[in-house]
Amino acid sequence: MMHRVVVTDGVALSGLHPLTGAPGFEVVEVIDSASAEFADAMREAAALIVRSATTVSAPIIEAAPALRAIGRAGVGVDNVDIPAATARGIAVYNAPGGNTIAAAELTMALLLAAARMVPEAHHSMMQGKWDRGSFTGVQLKGKTLGLIGAGRIGGEVASRSLAFGMTVLIYDPYLTAERADALGARLADLNEILETADFVSIHVPLTEETRGIVGREALAALKSSAFVINASRGGVLDEEALADALRSGDIAGAALDVYEEEPLPDDSPLRGAPNLVLTPHLGASTIEAQIDVATEVAEKIRHQLDSGDTSAAINAADLL
Ligand code: NAD
Repeated sequence: MMHRVVVTDGVALSGLHPLTGAPGFEVVEVIDSASAEFADAMREAAALIVRSATTVSAPIIEAAPALRAIGRAGVGVDNVDIPAATARGIAVYNAPGGNTIAAAELTMALLLAAARMVPEAHHSMMQGKWDRGSFTGVQLKGKTLGLIGAGRIGGEVASRSLAFGMTVLIYDPYLTAERADALGARLADLNEILETADFVSIHVPLTEETRGIVGREALAALKSSAFVINASRGGVLDEEALADALRSGDIAGAALDVYEEEPLPDDSPLRGAPNLVLTPHLGASTIEAQIDVATEVAEKIRHQLDSGDTSAAINAADLL
């Protein structure tokens, strides 16, 4: 039997080789998930792969009677109605590993951009200036990086920062001292990190425990020479408190890729704050990561359709 896999949202087709290269699978790409062609393709679909543009709602699921798997080529599955999928026995997959290097490399880019004021210097050059006096930065070598959370991405940031000659401290209550040691880092409590780090980079998921973990109090504990980087999730950092700390010079600088509300509102206190580098949630935006996340979900979907095993699904526990 041929398994039809419908792909939309511009998922990187070159990453789908686990399906396109396998007998028994038919990959059908329909870019526009609002089109009649998409609805038509879904009637016989065994699986659907999306990025973030398509909302996989209950009506889409209901109109696909043969659907058994939904794959999100990326991490967040906010655009998939998981309860509706689960109720139909449909497995939902994501690709948490495919973005890791892209997010870690963006973190390094933000760290260096903030430390050396690259965006500000670029901006001044574009205005026709040749100002060599206003952009004296700081070096990474010999400085302490405090990681809040060191799973996949934090771990990769640790090894890259060590290559720059930094000392790495980790606050992560779920990480063993052995793992920290293997990373070339040392576990520390949050207060030690806040009080001693020259750079603090956040790599936690957004949970009840991590919401606002870098809030007004934490920012006040930082050295005035410290930089804060957040390429994890908005909400783990108090944006208003950060804007205040930058404006008052209580910290030296910050760089953010993620925000409490996305797109970042026009009137956010972050806009126009000094010594701040902002990117619009670009952590996963590399050619390689887009291919890797497609491959990761394609492999999971192929495995399920070949074997019936749904243990890699996000909703595996509820699929009985
Ligand atoms: P991960 O699950 O591998 O690592 C998260 C780490 O945080 C774990 O080691 C966990 O023990 C730790 N942690 C959990 N609660 C904590 C707490 N209260 N205090 C300290 N540490 C805690 O996740 P990952 O793949 O490394 O992703 C990290 C973050 O980056 C996630 O929020 C993810 O959504 C985000 N992310 C962002 C982008 C982007 O585009 N900017 C791309 C990929 C991932």
